[in-house]
Amino acid sequence: MADTGLIHVYYGNGKGKTTAALGLALRACGYGKRIVLVQFLKSSPSGELISLARLGITVLRGHSGGFSFNMTDADKLETKRHHDENLAAVLDIVSEGKCDLLVLDEALDAYQLGLLDGDMLNSLINHKPAALELCITGHNPVGWIIDKADYVTQMTACKHPFNSGITARKGIEY
Ligand code: ATP
Ligand code: MG
Repeated sequence: MADTGLIHVYYGNGKGKTTAALGLALRACGYGKRIVLVQFLKSSPSGELISLARLGITVLRGHSGGFSFNMTDADKLETKRHHDENLAAVLDIVSEGKCDLLVLDEALDAYQLGLLDGDMLNSLINHKPAALELCITGHNPVGWIIDKADYVTQMTACKHPFNSGITARKGIEY
């Protein structure tokens, strides 16, 4: 990893945010970099989990009560508790200098939905070790995170097969 770690944000309504973040992880892994991927708002199976396990990449996920608009208050509390546990764990890993690339997948959404501790996210972003490369994804930009980011890439859905009735496909969307 380069000496200066930078901050990436991939956001928008088009496909490619998680896959771009995973591509970054794949590249960094090739040079032996230590990677941690935290996936927020996700608990269903997805092909990358199998591949990442083969590569020895650490993945932290947790309970998710499903789509946020369907969550009961109890689901939200439980989801936030799992998210915060993962954030606390990652803060420890980072402060011990054991991570070169940290991916916070869907953190923008979890933050905007109030489903993670904003202070811990703030600490990761504003007080990250200089060498840590940080990648954050989600649907909608968050001003203070965009301000801190070095790369900001918007994925725009010019076309998406979902709109023609093609639902998520195994090995492509999950
Ligand atoms: P991917 O994981 O394929 O890179 P993504 O991370 O950009 O997608 P998310 O919103 O996190 O997008 O993805 C959740 C699921 O919704 C994925 O299966 C993705 O392919 C799909 N998806 C992405 N954009 C759209 C869209 N505009 N309409 C419908 N489904 C979408
Ligand atoms: Mg995604």
